[in-house]
Amino acid sequence: MSVDFTNPIFTDEDKAREHLEALRWPDGAFCPHCGSTSVHRLEGKSHRPGLYQCNGCAQAFTVMVGSVMERSHIPLRKWVLAFYLMNSSKKGISAHQLHRMLGVTYKTAWFLAHRVREAMKPSNPSPLGGEGKIVEADETAVGGKSKNRAFRKKAIKKQIIVSLVERGGGARSILVAEGKRGRVRDLRPFMVTNASRKSRLMTDQDKNFVRIGEEFADHEAVDHHRAEYARGDVHTNTVEGFFSIFKRGVIGVYHHVSDAHLNRYLAEFDFRYSNRAKLGVNDGERAARAIKGAQGKRLTYRPAH
Ligand SMILES: [Zn+2]
Repeated sequence: MSVDFTNPIFTDEDKAREHLEALRWPDGAFCPHCGSTSVHRLEGKSHRPGLYQCNGCAQAFTVMVGSVMERSHIPLRKWVLAFYLMNSSKKGISAHQLHRMLGVTYKTAWFLAHRVREAMKPSNPSPLGGEGKIVEADETAVGGKSKNRAFRKKAIKKQIIVSLVERGGGARSILVAEGKRGRVRDLRPFMVTNASRKSRLMTDQDKNFVRIGEEFADHEAVDHHRAEYARGDVHTNTVEGFFSIFKRGVIGVYHHVSDAHLNRYLAEFDFRYSNRAKLGVNDGERAARAIKGAQGKRLTYRPAH
């Protein structure tokens, strides 16, 4: 983890707020209520720092309004540190670690982490791949019967994840529902909206991918049953590598997470993978991109945990 804890954005509330304002408002503050750029800062002791007022609709706002940070009582420097910590290690950071490092309760850390994950969800995703590009797709099951005796007694529901990974590009993942005879429902809409059909699609020979594969410019399937793991550039090693990072980071730690939470963890792992060092994105830039993604998103639920 390469977070510079001496950076004042993690220790000084004013510096943290300026950092968030610079990222969220690169062209100056604007009103989150009506969108007007005609705004002024409310100065003086009677106002809390960072408060603005809109000259159009007269409503007051701060940098937190209209984002996943809205109505939070957590100091901004802790929000900034959480964004950086969650973006600085491949496997992410557990709520327990956040709780210790931020000096907030476990419950607060847990909720904070889920709001950061919400910010990591793609806002206007364009499809992966394209002409001449390779997209690998694969599915993996988590849960179900565990090899670990301690967990075997508990009936852990099997969950199926499908991921698309563009070779040399980003990742998109979804939790899908399993229908009869292992058929996966809702797979086609996910695949054709998240991957360009001009791509070369590479999968294993799973029947779920055969029909959808016909819609792509090219579809090649590796036969795992014949121990055929690669044929020239035809393989699914990239997406399998992505699954192994996810499983070590989430399933290895939590064993089971609910469907709603699993989708949020997938968004987190997709985000880090799609903004990884190999693509020229360093830890700081990745955190900055996540903070920008906080825009226009709110998480209003209060989970009992
Ligand atoms: Zn306004």
